[in-house]
Amino acid sequence: MTAPLRIDGHPAGPALRALAAPAAAGRRSDWAGRLRGGWTRAERSLDRWLGGAQANPLRHLGAIACLLFALLVASGIYLYAAIDTSAGGAWTSIDRLSREQWYLGGVLRSVHRYAADAFVLVIALHLLREGLFGRFRGFRRFSWLTGVPLVGLVMVSAIGGFWLNWDQLGQYSAMATAELLDALPLFTTPLARNFLDPAAVSDRLFSLFVFVHLGVPLLLVFALWFHLQRLSRPVVLPPRAVALPVGLMLLALALLQPVTSQPPAALAQVPARLALDWWLLALHPLADATSPALVWALLLGALALLVALPFLPRRVAAAAVAEVDPANCSGCRRCFDDCPYGAITMVPHPQRRAGHFMAEVDADLCASCGICAGACPSSTPFRRAQRLVSGIDLPSAPIGALREQLQRGLQGCAAPRPIVAFGCERAASVRTIAAPDLVPLELVCLGALPPSFVEYALRDGAAGVLLVGCRGCEFRFGRSWTELRLQGAREPHLRASVPRDRLALQWADADERAAIADASARLRARLNTGCEELLDG
Ligand code: SF4
Ligand code: SF4
Repeated sequence: MTAPLRIDGHPAGPALRALAAPAAAGRRSDWAGRLRGGWTRAERSLDRWLGGAQANPLRHLGAIACLLFALLVASGIYLYAAIDTSAGGAWTSIDRLSREQWYLGGVLRSVHRYAADAFVLVIALHLLREGLFGRFRGFRRFSWLTGVPLVGLVMVSAIGGFWLNWDQLGQYSAMATAELLDALPLFTTPLARNFLDPAAVSDRLFSLFVFVHLGVPLLLVFALWFHLQRLSRPVVLPPRAVALPVGLMLLALALLQPVTSQPPAALAQVPARLALDWWLLALHPLADATSPALVWALLLGALALLVALPFLPRRVAAAAVAEVDPANCSGCRRCFDDCPYGAITMVPHPQRRAGHFMAEVDADLCASCGICAGACPSSTPFRRAQRLVSGIDLPSAPIGALREQLQRGLQGCAAPRPIVAFGCERAASVRTIAAPDLVPLELVCLGALPPSFVEYALRDGAAGVLLVGCRGCEFRFGRSWTELRLQGAREPHLRASVPRDRLALQWADADERAAIADASARLRARLNTGCEELLDG
């Protein structure tokens, strides 16, 4: 077997190790590592069960949250127009809507409620997923810090929705919230006094309820905009294979288990029995069972932890960000189009005539993924320059070094028909494939590989090329751009003349070593038999 190409000592070493560290940490046997492993296995099981990542809701949590928010807004607008939001008329109008217009108003009311439950669940899962995989530091800090307040705003708005109904559950929630707020030294007069006398529950108080339930979502829109604004091409709608089941599930719940009002609020009575929404209103029984002070301590503690996470010391140094070489930048904008984090802007070229532009990298936004280098036309290994310098590159994992590694690997391989395996560092490591004729090369992301390297490897003596990337791309678009470039649907594309039967593409997570060993064996068998097939795991 060819000795695996070592990256230690090479300029590519530090960055590759730094970026590989979170994946390596995922393999450690600490509790977070086990949780990450469990989550990854659950995602893969769902992929298999649902027929692919496109239909897997766990891979589209952020987009599902946006869809649910849109459903909440749409159903909420109808409900707001149809119900009476005064203290005296709220319960009656909502109850009548549910009974007399069950086919529209009643269904929309139920969809609204179930969508709120699902919204909170989905953003909690989204937060957990991003936190588990350490996606809160560096270039992701902004998205994390703008995402945390969204959770609070969603909960406030959801709880406020119960008050508008003004049944016994709404009464209980409003009083419990007032008592919770009274535990803070904010108000000179206790808010809970508003609920001692029925006369105090006026239309003015209901205006406050309306503000909480309708005004807070307006803040939510702004917060969501901030949360997404540093992403290039933010995905705000899930694929149809996910959106349709989510919509149908809400509709089925609304029809099978319609949401109904509990008896109207009566301040003189203590409700004997309440059907509590434990998911949205769990804070109230918790405060009843313990104390408002403890609930505040838990809430503020959780908030402080979430806000502090991005500032905790790193185990590994951050990787160097991408750099532009003006002499090799033609201003073609491909890197600008492909950067997943909007880290690139086009600025006037300092060395050329007016009207010429070049790329510029915002270091605060750069994820050091190298996808821009994979997009740059000057990254082609066919250039004759002794030292290959790309228009844009990762200083610690340059394209020129990859070409040298490839050349050395092919020259040093004793097998007559070697296979070159380009692998993403977060996927199953191509270095673990025990094959004597394999030349393994690792990149930060498979999207950082210019497709021309496939052709170059084949022309330089490789019998075949295996490409390995992780299933859910760490850098958002590495997988999509790679597939489109190989299909010829996105620049820079793999030339049509490159024989596809000598190429295999396998998606495999870090622990799926057997899958890439199989892919390598199948490619070898195919090369020996001449059968045409493009693998895609
Ligand atoms: S390495 Fe390139 S593609 Fe990746 S975030 Fe930085 S500028 Fe964008
Ligand atoms: S892809 Fe390369 S040549 Fe094109 S703008 Fe970016 S750095 Fe310049």
